[in-house]
Amino acid sequence: MPWNKKFECMPVEKLQKFQLEKLKETVNWISKKVPFYKNKLKELGVKADNLNSIEDSAKLPFTVKDDLRDNYPFDLCAVAMKDVVRIHASSGTTGKPITGPYTADDLEQWTECMCRNLYSAGVRREDIVQNAYGYGLFTGGLGFHQAATKMGCAVVPTSSGLTERQITLMKDFGSTVLFATPSYALTIAERAEEMKVDIKSLPLRVGIFGAEPWSSGMRQEIEERMNIKAMEAYGLTELCGPGVGFDCEAQDGIHINEDHFLAEIVDPGTLEPLPLGEQGELVFTSLQRRAMPMIRYRTKDITRLRRERCPCGRTFVKMDKIYGRSDDMLIISGVNVFPSQIESLLLDIEEVEPQYRLLVRKKGYLDQLTVQVEGKQEVYDAGKEKRLEVAAKIAGHIKGMMGIGVEVELVDAKSIARSEGKALRVVDERPKQLR
Ligand code: ADP
Ligand code: ZN
Repeated sequence: MPWNKKFECMPVEKLQKFQLEKLKETVNWISKKVPFYKNKLKELGVKADNLNSIEDSAKLPFTVKDDLRDNYPFDLCAVAMKDVVRIHASSGTTGKPITGPYTADDLEQWTECMCRNLYSAGVRREDIVQNAYGYGLFTGGLGFHQAATKMGCAVVPTSSGLTERQITLMKDFGSTVLFATPSYALTIAERAEEMKVDIKSLPLRVGIFGAEPWSSGMRQEIEERMNIKAMEAYGLTELCGPGVGFDCEAQDGIHINEDHFLAEIVDPGTLEPLPLGEQGELVFTSLQRRAMPMIRYRTKDITRLRRERCPCGRTFVKMDKIYGRSDDMLIISGVNVFPSQIESLLLDIEEVEPQYRLLVRKKGYLDQLTVQVEGKQEVYDAGKEKRLEVAAKIAGHIKGMMGIGVEVELVDAKSIARSEGKALRVVDERPKQLR
C-alpha cells in the first residue's frame, strides 16, 4: 500500500493513544535488551508503567550522537545478529561513524514510511524515477530505492555523481521523477544548461529532495530551473534514514510519520520540553523499531512543530522546514544566524547564482562572516565595478534584514565547488579552541 490512510489521517487523540502504547512497548523492549538504556532508566527510576501519557516521555533519558559513538558499533543493538538484515552507517566526518542496524520488520516499516513520502509527492507506478542519492552506507540511496521499487516504479539507480551521464539518461529514458539532495539537483540543473539540454522541456515532473537544509527560496529556484514540483524528504540515520517526515501538496511544513516517531521540541540549553509552536531542538523517540530503538534522540536540528488542519487531510503533526543544525549556527554581532537564512537572502538578489559559501573567521573577540557568492555571467561581463556594486547591495540587504554586518565577496564564476551530495556551506576558519 503506497500510503496508509488509517494512520496518516487518524484522529489525533487516537493516534496519541497508539503512540503511548508503542512507547511503552519500546521502553520495555530496550530495558530488557540494551544495557545502556537499562542502566539509564534504572538511574532515573523510570519504568514503562510510569508512562501514562505522551507528555510523560519527558521522564525518559535523552540520547545524543556521542552515545552512539561510544557504543559503536553494536552496543545499542537490541537484537542478535541473526535477526539483523541490514546495517547502514553515517559518514562520521567528525570521528567514528554511527551504525544503523535493521531487522526485516524495521526494513519493511522504513519502506512504508518512504512510500508515504513518494505517494504524497505524487509519485505513481507509471513513473520512471532516477535515484541520484548516493547508494551504499548512506541511507538515502537504498531508502528511496526500496520504496520506489515497492510502488512498482521503474527505478533507475544512477546514484550520485557523473552528472553528465545523469542528464543524458534523464533525457534518453524520459525520467519523470528525480531523487537527490537539493544542492545536487541544482548542480544537475546547471550542468544541463551548460550542455544545452533544456531540462524544463523534459518529462521530469517531480523531485524529492532532502538530507540537508535548504531554504524555501532554494525550493523555488529549483522548481523554476527544472520546471518541476520540488518536494521534501526528512530523516536521519539514527532513526532509519529518510522517511521520518515528508511534505504534502500544501508544501507548507513537513508531516512527521507519527505512528513511528514521537517528536518533541526542547530548549537546547535547558532541555525542557517546549510547547507546540515554539522553536527549539527536535527530539525523536522511535516507536516501532526493534534492532536499534532510539529514546529521545537529540537531532540538533532546529525547527518548530505545528498541529493544525492540513488541506491534504493528514493529521500528522507538521514541522517547519529545518532552520539549520545547532552545530552550524553562527553568532555574528550577537545575532544567531543559520546558513539557510543567508541563503534565503542571497536568493532575493537577481544578479547572483545560488552558489555560495560562508567563511567564519575571528576578528579580535568577535566572529566575522564573509559571504562568498557567484554572480551571474552578466555581472562578470560588466566588469569589476559591477562586482563591487552587487557585493555592496547584498551586504546592505543582509544588514537591513538581519541587522548584521558581513563582508560579501563576489567570487569568480564556477569557483565554488559543486555539490554531489550534502553541500558544504560553512568553512570555519576560527582556531578550534575559539569556536
Ligand atoms: P550525517 O549526520 O552524517 O549527515 P544523516 O544522513 O543521518 O547523516 O543526516 C541526517 C541529518 O541531515 C539530519 O539530522 C538533518 O540535519 C539533515 N537533514 C536531513 N533531511 C533534511 C531536510 N529535509 N531538511 C533539512 N535537513 C535535513
Ligand atoms: Zn498536509
